Amino acid sequence: MNCDKTKVMHIRQKSSPCSDRVFKMGNTTIEYTPRYRYLGLTISETLEYNECVNELITASSRALGALSSKYFLVDGFDYETYTKLFTSTVVPIMDYASGVWGYKPYDNIERLQYRAIRTFMGVGKCSPIPAICGDMGWTPAYIRRQCNMIRLWHRITSMHVGRIPNRIFQWDSTLSEKYKKTWYNELKSVMEKCELLELFNNNYTNGLSVKFIANYSELLLRQKHHDKWKLDIMNMPKLRTFRCLETNFETQQYITTNMTRQQRSTLARMRCGTFPLELELGRYRGIPSNRRFCKVCNDKVSVEDEKHFLVKCPLYLCERNNAFADFQQRNNIDFSVLSDDEILIKLLTTDCKLVSNYIFNISKIRTQLLSHCDI
Ligand SMILES: [Zn+2]
Repeated sequence: MNCDKTKVMHIRQKSSPCSDRVFKMGNTTIEYTPRYRYLGLTISETLEYNECVNELITASSRALGALSSKYFLVDGFDYETYTKLFTSTVVPIMDYASGVWGYKPYDNIERLQYRAIRTFMGVGKCSPIPAICGDMGWTPAYIRRQCNMIRLWHRITSMHVGRIPNRIFQWDSTLSEKYKKTWYNELKSVMEKCELLELFNNNYTNGLSVKFIANYSELLLRQKHHDKWKLDIMNMPKLRTFRCLETNFETQQYITTNMTRQQRSTLARMRCGTFPLELELGRYRGIPSNRRFCKVCNDKVSVEDEKHFLVKCPLYLCERNNAFADFQQRNNIDFSVLSDDEILIKLLTTDCKLVSNYIFNISKIRTQLLSHCDI
């Protein structure tokens, strides 16, 4: 044994002091260490994983940086390619060994995933998180990790009873009667949420494959997440237009349609309420929301919101007539029987390429008109 490379770690609760027992090899005293790195995972003496999570975040952030720079280099991938690259280059680092440490929520991991979504959608840092995550439809990182815990349980349960992981699991289950903060108890609450408590209590997989159980759990956890997400959408003022679209937490059509980065970004910002219209810009200047009037038609009555800009403002009439005629014909929709609100919803959910080009064109006119006003 190499005394320089040998250390002692006393695993204990934060409140208990470190043991003062002296370990010796021959005459050499073996030192205590507060952490130990094993198979790429830093294990601390209090079995808290914050340090290890921070290391994983640094590494996955680097991987995401590499992915983003490739994304910009080729001026955007389509959704499938981007998702495939994200799940095969960033997720494995982000979720590394998360079957062990993944129970607790870690905001900074979720934030990394938001960053990946923002890059793809071409939206800024101020975009409302619920809207962009909902449109992208990726499974939140915390759900992936909880499914990984169930995967690990499946592996342990399928093992021969005499094997060490299985014996540790049994030991943890006995400890869990006395202590609350154990992996066994964390797993139990996840499996309860996934309605798998019967399997958990009997400690058998009932012949179900790991893939089946993991997919099933992901589905249930996503449904629960969906309910919470709906409430978030309801409570954000910025999402006035997004709310009306009545979408679900699933990948939207404009995300999967093969568009340029610019087209996708235009539509995404319009849906999320961050497109630079007076209603959004006036907020930064402290103008009350009912007085953020359209400066283009300058009628001092119409607030420039998404509906005014896309459906009503008379200054874009020519562009609008052309685009609307095209839109109605291609999608077999008759605008004359619809209200302005219904037209807005149709525009933001159908024929995304055409609509995105329309938005791009009229916003160019808007910029021109406003620059004249300034002069
Ligand atoms: Zn106007």
